[in-house]
Amino acid sequence: MQIEDIAPKVEHLRSYFETGKTRSADWRIAQLNQLKKLTLEQEDKIREALDKDLNKCELEAWSAEVGYTVSEIDHSLKRLSKWMQPRRVATPMVAQPGKSYIQPQPLGTVLIIGAWNYPYQLVMAPLIAAISAGNCAVLKPSELASHTSALIAELVPQYLDKDAFTVIEGAVEETTELLKQHFDHILYTGGEAVGRIVMRAAAEHLTPVTLELGGKSPCVVDKSANLDVTTSRIAWCKWMNAGQTCVAPDYVIIEKQFVEPFMTAMQEKINRFYGPDNGASSQDYAKIINHRHWQRIVNYLEGQNVVFGGQHDEQKQFIAPTLVLNPDLASPIMQEEIFGPLLPIITVDSIDEAIPIINRRAKPLAMYIFTKDMGLENRLLNETSAGSVCINDGMMFMANKDLPFGGVGASGMGSYSGQAGFDTFSHLKAVMKRSFMMDVDLRYPPYNDNKLKWLKRLG
Ligand code: NAD
Repeated sequence: MQIEDIAPKVEHLRSYFETGKTRSADWRIAQLNQLKKLTLEQEDKIREALDKDLNKCELEAWSAEVGYTVSEIDHSLKRLSKWMQPRRVATPMVAQPGKSYIQPQPLGTVLIIGAWNYPYQLVMAPLIAAISAGNCAVLKPSELASHTSALIAELVPQYLDKDAFTVIEGAVEETTELLKQHFDHILYTGGEAVGRIVMRAAAEHLTPVTLELGGKSPCVVDKSANLDVTTSRIAWCKWMNAGQTCVAPDYVIIEKQFVEPFMTAMQEKINRFYGPDNGASSQDYAKIINHRHWQRIVNYLEGQNVVFGGQHDEQKQFIAPTLVLNPDLASPIMQEEIFGPLLPIITVDSIDEAIPIINRRAKPLAMYIFTKDMGLENRLLNETSAGSVCINDGMMFMANKDLPFGGVGASGMGSYSGQAGFDTFSHLKAVMKRSFMMDVDLRYPPYNDNKLKWLKRLG
């Protein structure tokens, strides 16, 4: 699409929204069913695009992209009519007789900007929320996952209402032009620096934003944890998509006395999952998205104590699952989000030291706690902050659509998934309905002490 076509396209969507067509439950259900049809009918093409962009294997393409999208649609279809209902709340004495409720209403035309690491899901899951809430939407998939972006642009107009949805492909120039337009909400997924750009642009139109950012998600492993299950689960969610997952554990904190058996078990899991050549010939291990990111990740290894892995091949955009022991907390690998297959392991004398290590950093998107010690679990839950927490597993919490997904502080603002997404893309309008009966004179001037006394009593 040409830059000069962007403004009229957005204007067209805005006009279409004003026709009211997108508000009905029937339209929303029809669009959700069409999106499900698209996802299932075109599964092979989606998988092929994900393979070209990231070497994504079939199982991960299903569990984290295609199947994930379908289950989000099914969840929404099942609950949509309930979500759309007015939500009754109590009415205070002073407003009796009367009733009060919250009426969800579509916001209008929204912008969804996706990132490259789960390039299908990160556009489609917010879209499901936007459709459920009755909005028009512009989708801007990441140009870094160019095959998936092109496929989304090709397929969306074939299945969805063309007047309500449009896909705009492109990079900085196109996104900059898009951000000049007036939207009723922007949901952005990506890094913090661009998040600031998005928020600044949104401020011009007083457009609310949901920012789905990243951060360094800590993983605290206590000596009471089941070592075998813990290491399987950490290895699974750290090296899925070669560590290019916003909620992947960024680093592990563990007591010194427990680190040897932990690392031995971890290496055994890596071998079992990715083969004796440490992922180099595994069909199940993704590549790094591009050379810039490959170089960025390799640079983190400079001067570090690599105790396992570390192999890399620029031509294949490959970096092996890698364990780094006790990096300096001030070094880049512990200052920046790794977003790749390197796992620093920080040893401490007592697991209580995990709390200040976590709290000295920006608030992460996720935190993982592996322990059977309820006291430790509660201390970590209460004394640290993170967008989401999973106890005794990795990113399994993402499978529960009843849990809102989003960050806190530097890891983002707002949330989606299930009802949280519906609410994000709705205005929750407060409505009070009074009766003409009992028009008590107390509130009307001229005021006097007696009226004041009664008002104080009524509260
Ligand atoms: P990216 O490079 O794909 O950028 C994200 C989007 O921003 C793209 O659509 C891109 O076109 C757009 N963009 C880039 N530069 C821009 C500019 N100057 N102006 C306007 N738009 C611009 O993705 P990324 O930033 O490399 O994403 C990685 C980050 O995203 C990591 O921090 C990761 O943790 C985070 N992430 C978060 C989530 C989440 O759900 N919270 C999911 C995935 C990734």
